[in-house]
Amino acid sequence: MLQALVILLIVLIIIMIVSVIIANKKLIRNRDSVVQLISTAIITACCYTVFILVPSGYKHLAAFTGGLYFLTTDWLVVSLMLFVARYTNVRPPSKLPRYSVYLLAGVDSVSFLVNTFTKHMFYLERMTAPQLGMEYWDVRLKFPHVIHRVFVYGLVLYSLGVLLYKVIQAPGIYKKKYGTILIQTLAVVGLNILCSALNACYDYSVVLYASLAISICYLALYALPRKVLEKIHSIIVGDSVVGLFAYDNNGKCIGVNRMAEELFEGRGDIYDVAAQYLTEWMEEHDGNLSNIMESERTVVRNGEKKYIYVTYQKFLDKKKRYLGCCFQFEDRTEVVLRYKEEQYRATHDMLTGLLNREAFEVEVRNILAQAQEPYYIVNSNIKDFKLLNELYGTDVGDRLLIAQANMIREAEREGSVSCRVYADKFCTLLPKSYFDEQQFIKNIKATMESCLTTTFKLHYYLGVYEITDVNEPVWTMYDKAMMAIEAVRGNYEQVVCYYRDELLQRIMKEKEVLGEFDRALEEGQFRMFLQPQIANNGTIVGAEALVRWIHPEKGMVSPGVFIPTLEKAGLIHRLDLYMWESAAKKLEEWKKQGREDLSISVNISTKDFFYLDICEAMRTLAGKYDFNIKNLKLEITESALMENVREVMKTLDGLHGLGYDIEIDDFGSGYSSLGMLKDINADILKIDMIFLQETKNVKKSTTIIKNIIFMSKELGMPVITEGVETKEQMEFLADAGCDMFQGYYFAKPMSVADFEKEYC
Ligand code: C2E
Ligand code: CA
Ligand code: CA
Repeated sequence: MLQALVILLIVLIIIMIVSVIIANKKLIRNRDSVVQLISTAIITACCYTVFILVPSGYKHLAAFTGGLYFLTTDWLVVSLMLFVARYTNVRPPSKLPRYSVYLLAGVDSVSFLVNTFTKHMFYLERMTAPQLGMEYWDVRLKFPHVIHRVFVYGLVLYSLGVLLYKVIQAPGIYKKKYGTILIQTLAVVGLNILCSALNACYDYSVVLYASLAISICYLALYALPRKVLEKIHSIIVGDSVVGLFAYDNNGKCIGVNRMAEELFEGRGDIYDVAAQYLTEWMEEHDGNLSNIMESERTVVRNGEKKYIYVTYQKFLDKKKRYLGCCFQFEDRTEVVLRYKEEQYRATHDMLTGLLNREAFEVEVRNILAQAQEPYYIVNSNIKDFKLLNELYGTDVGDRLLIAQANMIREAEREGSVSCRVYADKFCTLLPKSYFDEQQFIKNIKATMESCLTTTFKLHYYLGVYEITDVNEPVWTMYDKAMMAIEAVRGNYEQVVCYYRDELLQRIMKEKEVLGEFDRALEEGQFRMFLQPQIANNGTIVGAEALVRWIHPEKGMVSPGVFIPTLEKAGLIHRLDLYMWESAAKKLEEWKKQGREDLSISVNISTKDFFYLDICEAMRTLAGKYDFNIKNLKLEITESALMENVREVMKTLDGLHGLGYDIEIDDFGSGYSSLGMLKDINADILKIDMIFLQETKNVKKSTTIIKNIIFMSKELGMPVITEGVETKEQMEFLADAGCDMFQGYYFAKPMSVADFEKEYC
């Protein structure tokens, strides 16, 4: 019996030693308390083993080892208490009670050591078990031993209480974790009490102590964590936001989770869907499946497009044998949509939804890299868009831009791309064959009309550049189309303009003119030239003042080169003011010389009406210089009269009020009708030279001239014809009743000095 017990104890001690070594290597949170508990259990078991082996005759040694056994049980229950606190996550007793426990255990321990000599706790008797016929140490307890019992059972009860509380309170899967230890501890205590009550030869509960320690070690380190882990895994898989199809080694689907079901909802039995999915995947990848493969897919769920990231994973065992596989479906819709939105923002104009500059440039490059046919860059620009914004608010402006963008988008086809460059400037790249000028204009007009309820008249320009070199920088192409627009700006009849290389030169020249204008005006490089006007009796009546630019490097520049540029740039009024003043000054001079019979006609540009108060300027002149107002004649072109009739009429009335005579210049060159003559308050009619130029239908021209002259006579207006180059023309005009002539037949425009030399 003794031998069997000893062998059992030794086996348990060895197992415990192994356990403690293993536990010590594990990285778990309650490792220290486990190690401490088992170590104490080892010592306790060792002490007891030694005690029961002490032979008769060594009573003191037996008493000492028995004392050691009892005192180690003190520390064993202390370790149990600490372990349980750690294991259950219940806060361990606070410092004071804990130290009190240590102190009591210490006192009890000392008491057992002293007991070797004093025998106040227990004493031993060598007995023979009647049934077994073997000797053993019978432990006779004395009263103070009760204190030891109370202490030990007290701590055990505390631990049992904590475990019971956790069994009741903890979630299902953890009940077992605490329950197992609770039951084992109860068994140890029960057996211990039983052994004492029956006065057994040996304390068999030591065996249970040891088993409990081993069991605790197993539970704490392996058993339950694995279960919990499995449970947690299944929860994670089940509730995961990643969909899952799992297959065995035959390709049979053995599991799907909730997310996978949701993703493939409405396609029939989910296991069939999963089996089909694997088959299709295999076909797609030719059965050549590596361990992990990823791919982007889309599925449509509830009519919504979902972006799925699929991972295929193969499972192999340690010997690389195939166990099965799985698909993981990660719904990346949100990320993809966010990315798409960000990308959209980065590449589009937020107001109109067309591409922005950067994205447009990339697209143009891509298209042109594969271009098989000629392409156009078409720019559009609304005239006075800024003014529209100022007058009606940016809301109206924005509406117009959006409508225009929509129109452009609708017209877009494969191989064309558009963008809003900035403000009201749009740019489109399209194959030349797509471009239908008339359709484009029609669309734009319709857009304008649908957008604007106001009377504000919008004008539109399209600049077209035919790409000759696909490698040219995109913005150079854009600039060229823009140049085409620049070239027609201010011209209300023309909407579309095509870029030509001459345009570039023209624009360079314009830039040059504008750059030099200020200085030239300041330095007096502009001079008044005079072209004589002759009456039909051959006498000189005056001259037209025509400007010449005496350029320090280029010599004499004629007005055809710079006047249109100055008009376009809104600078002509400054030159005109200068010319009018030169004429007034000269008239004053002539008056002083007694030549009040000579008049000077000055030109008034259409643009002057916008930039100047012409009446005010003329009043100032009349005040500043002493000349006969009737001698400063004002030439206003027919087109100026037509453009802003009411405004111009008012000005004409003002000028008449001051005493000036008005001449209608270039009569017949525009769209005016003869009927207009009776409405216009003018004094002299100047017939354009166009009627004198060699035309195919000479007869028609002469008839018209005759009638114009006839009609102006009826209205009481004197007539002057310009551009008279030959004697025949002069005679014909004189016959028709023309009063005055101007033209190369008499003289070309000349410097004032030459004019005075000749005629004064
Ligand atoms: P315009 O007012 O019709 O001036 C008459 C133009 O016809 C002048 O050209 C003159 O030199 C030219 N001319 C005169 N007789 C003949 C002829 O027999 N045959 C031909 N082929 N041409 C003749 P110019 O001086 O080059 O002026 C061109 C235009 O420039 C003028 O046309 C006028 O519109 C504008 N211009 C000239 N000076 C001024 C100015 O001081 N202010 C403004 N606003 N415009 C001016
Ligand atoms: Ca003129
Ligand atoms: Ca003229």
